[in-house]
Amino acid sequence: MWNPKRENGLKQLERFVARSGREYAAQRNFDLGMNRHEHVSKLSPWVRHRIISEEEVVTAVLEKHTLSGAEKFVQEVFWRTYWKGWLETHPSVWKDYTVRTSKLAKELEINTSLREQFVNATTGKTGIACFDDWTHELIESGYLHNHARMWFASIWVFTLKLPWELGADFFLRHLLDGDPASNTLSWRWVAGLHTKGKTYLARSDNISKFTKGRYTNITQLSKEALPANFVAEAPSLLPLPVHEPFKSGVPTGLLLTDEDLNPTELVRKIGPLAAVANFSSVEQRSSFPISSNVSDFVCGAHKDAGLRLRQTKCLNDSLISECKSVKSICEWALRNNLNQVVTPHISVGPTQDALGGLSEELQSKGINFCQVIARWDLMSWPHSSRGFFKLRKKIPTILSEVPLI
Ligand SMILES: Cc1cc2nc3c(=O)[nH]c(=O)nc-3n(C[C@H](O)[C@H](O)[C@H](O)COP(=O)(O)OP(=O)(O)OC[C@H]3O[C@@H](n4cnc5c(N)ncnc54)[C@H](O)[C@@H]3O)c2cc1C
Repeated sequence: MWNPKRENGLKQLERFVARSGREYAAQRNFDLGMNRHEHVSKLSPWVRHRIISEEEVVTAVLEKHTLSGAEKFVQEVFWRTYWKGWLETHPSVWKDYTVRTSKLAKELEINTSLREQFVNATTGKTGIACFDDWTHELIESGYLHNHARMWFASIWVFTLKLPWELGADFFLRHLLDGDPASNTLSWRWVAGLHTKGKTYLARSDNISKFTKGRYTNITQLSKEALPANFVAEAPSLLPLPVHEPFKSGVPTGLLLTDEDLNPTELVRKIGPLAAVANFSSVEQRSSFPISSNVSDFVCGAHKDAGLRLRQTKCLNDSLISECKSVKSICEWALRNNLNQVVTPHISVGPTQDALGGLSEELQSKGINFCQVIARWDLMSWPHSSRGFFKLRKKIPTILSEVPLI
């Protein structure tokens, strides 16, 4: 179902658009089981890697529906934008998460009881039928319905009493849409760390209703979700990243990362490209091995992006290079006599971690490095540093000001 090619994502969008209005609002919370997620778009793997942009999705929907008719769906797309913008101004949350996850990975080696619980949860052997089924679905398909993700995270934290960071890491390794912002912050939200003191409790009657009775009378679930064990830290608020202008008319290379694999607006502005490099940080999403579903999807997505660029810009094979490190990107830039390297903005997460120091390395060789923020983000992120409500209020203004495609 999730072939990374852009044309497949566009077909999926086309199929879904008619259902993105009132039908989505009424049915979206029902999880009908693996391969039966008819009421949601299943676009997230393409959107996560910006193979299809949020702007394109919302434009297609608003061509068929009014904003009030598709309000719920549009808001859900903006949840993604909100999480990304929030993490940009609170990068310490991602840093703390990666440090904690690495520590916990070491603890798993020595703490046998933690390891046993963790292995049971991640192999679908807890004895909680719904949870075990979701584990298998996640591993097999690389996708879980939003409601299942909420129930799963809640059971992980409050019933199994496992550290939330290990659950977030498990998701990041297996979700085709695994995203440092949406994933980490949704897990924190369930655990009561995002909205102070507000946790999410998975209840048997709610699971039964929204799985249409597939799971009933789940007696093992925790009856309470106390945030008491958590120290709700006050993460530091940093300014948003700045938009970096690039020079025109100089030999320019485009760096494609997992964060934006269809930067058409940017490519149009740059003009002829001297060279293109692909860099994937998929293996750095976790200190545990990444699911082959995920690495195959990302690898396929990079190949497809290269093919599309070649078609539109007449770049031949020799001008597209695969780079695996900061060093190899610098070598690529020097080999192609580049004056500047331009890339869509690299937001907080594994790609930014993996490319730490790239700007300085390039500058030391006299090569300019520019990260360009998409207009959708530029319009939305200034309203994303506090609660979602603030951004939600701005949606009509943003949509009227962003010249939709
Ligand atoms: C614990 C937990 C972990 C999650 N991890 C991720 C993740 O790693 N990556 C990810 O993209 N989403 C994540 N989500 C959010 C949400 O579950 C998925 O975006 C959604 O289920 C994707 O399916 P869809 O494309 O069919 O969504 P639809 O309902 O069709 O929504 C359309 C698009 O809107 C965005 N969206 C919808 N709901 C949300 C939401 N609650 N938060 C952020 N964006 C949303 C997605 O880009 C999605 O493709 C997580 C949610 C929870 C509770």
